[in-house]
Amino acid sequence: MTSYSSQCIKALNSDGTIRAVGLQATELVNEVAIRHGLVGEYAKRLGEALIGGLMLSTYMKKGNRVNLNIKTTQGPVGQIFVDATPDGNVRGYIVKGDGQEPVKEGLGPWGEGILSVLRSKDVEQKEPFIGTVPLITGHFAKDLTFYWHQSEQVPSAVGLHIEVSENPERPIKSAGGFLMQALPGANEDVLKDLEQHIDNFGDIALEMAENSNPKELLPYIFKDTGYSLLEETPLTSICSCSIEKVSRAFSLLPMKDIDEMIQNKESPETKCEFCGTLYQLSLEDLKKIKS
Ligand SMILES: [Zn+2]
Repeated sequence: MTSYSSQCIKALNSDGTIRAVGLQATELVNEVAIRHGLVGEYAKRLGEALIGGLMLSTYMKKGNRVNLNIKTTQGPVGQIFVDATPDGNVRGYIVKGDGQEPVKEGLGPWGEGILSVLRSKDVEQKEPFIGTVPLITGHFAKDLTFYWHQSEQVPSAVGLHIEVSENPERPIKSAGGFLMQALPGANEDVLKDLEQHIDNFGDIALEMAENSNPKELLPYIFKDTGYSLLEETPLTSICSCSIEKVSRAFSLLPMKDIDEMIQNKESPETKCEFCGTLYQLSLEDLKKIKS
């Protein structure tokens, strides 16, 4: 299959009442799945969460970030964390739910659980916004739609499509999605019309996942309504971890623990869950924390 560069597009209809986001994320999700050694269902679940996180970041200001914490009580996924920023960067990881009950009959693959969304500013200012909803249907796109209705009072339509394989060298065959949201002042009829149209169009998400360029699908989404393309953002998955951040985390430990490590000439190790990088603090680093 041809590989396309991962990207996110944003568009707005002519009277500014409907916004649309399209994501082509095959290479991005593939990269993250390979990084964590995930194939099949695990790769698919993490991919859905990564795309969801990116969708949530699209209406945030530069310098803000969004964190998803999804905790399930059924099925193979235990917990997923995602960290996304509006410049198109996302990282995430999965904690397998070994030994959990199987997904309840009639529910989608996620089963029951909780979806928490935390929107915060890099520069500590106001309290972060936290919205929490239960996973009701077990289908991530539907539960995300419910989140927007319930927690942010924004009528939305979400589509996700991810095709996976058991091949560790290419776990993701295709990944993409779209989001449509009604903004204040949106006409009910226009909304209904759009929803209807999406049903008729078939699986837009599948097209988003497999099409080289999601902006080519905008005329189908907006139909005869005029629209303008606002942004095209390349997607990346760069981890922001560093030895400085690790040092900062250690500096929160009680000083007597640090003293003990220095005395015992320890060089504590810690792994970044997001990217797997192993950090080891030297005696010098520990002494620096103390000073
Ligand atoms: Zn990292």
